[in-house]
Amino acid sequence: MADAETTHDAPVSTDVHDAPVELLRDLIRFETVNPPGDEKACIDWIGELLDAYGVEYDTYAKDPSRPNLFSTISGGDGPPLLLYGHVDVVPVTGQEWTHDPFEAVVEDGHVWGRGTLDMKSGVAMFLATFLRLAAEDEQPPGDVHLLVVSDEEGGGDDGLGYLVDEHPELFADIDHAIGEFGGYDMEIAGVETYPIQVNEKQVCWLEATFRGNSGHASFPHEGTAMGKMASFVETVDSERLPVHITPAAEQMFEALADAVPPEQAEQFEALLDPEQTDDVLDAMETETKMFDALLHNTANPTIVDGGDKENVVPEEVTVFLDCRLVPGQEPEDVMAELRELTGQEPEFEVVRFDSGPPSADLTPSRNWVRFSKQRPVAPRFRC
Ligand SMILES: [Zn+2]
Repeated sequence: MADAETTHDAPVSTDVHDAPVELLRDLIRFETVNPPGDEKACIDWIGELLDAYGVEYDTYAKDPSRPNLFSTISGGDGPPLLLYGHVDVVPVTGQEWTHDPFEAVVEDGHVWGRGTLDMKSGVAMFLATFLRLAAEDEQPPGDVHLLVVSDEEGGGDDGLGYLVDEHPELFADIDHAIGEFGGYDMEIAGVETYPIQVNEKQVCWLEATFRGNSGHASFPHEGTAMGKMASFVETVDSERLPVHITPAAEQMFEALADAVPPEQAEQFEALLDPEQTDDVLDAMETETKMFDALLHNTANPTIVDGGDKENVVPEEVTVFLDCRLVPGQEPEDVMAELRELTGQEPEFEVVRFDSGPPSADLTPSRNWVRFSKQRPVAPRFRC
């Protein structure tokens, strides 16, 4: 079913299910930097592996150079399980690399390369598992599906977004999935925990345009677009937006408070008091970036566009903001927060908003599992 054409010379064999590290190295050597992604050669190669193991699959593509692969190993009557991951990676330009990002060098017990973490390692593990099932001819308790997608790093319009919109039948019976996050341990305040993702922050890309006094740069100017933009960016860079506590975050921090030593427990409880949240985050010794992101909308300036002549003060400057919104928040909310925080009134344009469900279903009976104190407590959510 896959096109035979491939630009990659990694050998295809039927014992790779025992060698996930080699699978990972092969995957890394496909330069699937998004944009443009160009994932076809990589997806085709995975298809050839499946062919070699005698496993059927289908590909689905909105853009022919960016296919998505779906395959199933039939199991018993148990609930189906989906293993899914993406093979595109973020760019490598303008960065210093110890080793060529696409050579997949092994050194000091580590594989070096773009995608080792996000998320060709995950894809390699899923593939190895899936191929092992095929090789051992053992029937799993329920159907096991493998989905390898393109275009995750660019928003998923050619990947999962396309599949969900155009081929929802693929997911009709699937309640359980293992994807990019969750299932790994995380040490929090000295306690081993297993956070499980139940929802996502919503991508919200904004363009903020500033207008101001312009003219020849040989004269003094105040109130310029450049100055307004700079002041806006400086504030956004150094201050937080308001606190938002979702029910899922509340349950997570309550569970953490139960699990950690009393001093840290107090901190986790205080995090849930919006009056104290930011002070607690500043005072916490543990890794707080994730907590910070869970409890606030964030806005990071990523691209600035303005001015095209050395001696002309531009009338207009635009800054691109990658905002991530807490579930339940809308673009208008973060725009209002940015205006309030910075005291500036740029003209905002919503470039992209990936709206998600406002809150996760946290019904305890189905989704909430607590371990005993011996097994450190962790908030467990349905994938
Ligand atoms: Zn990823």
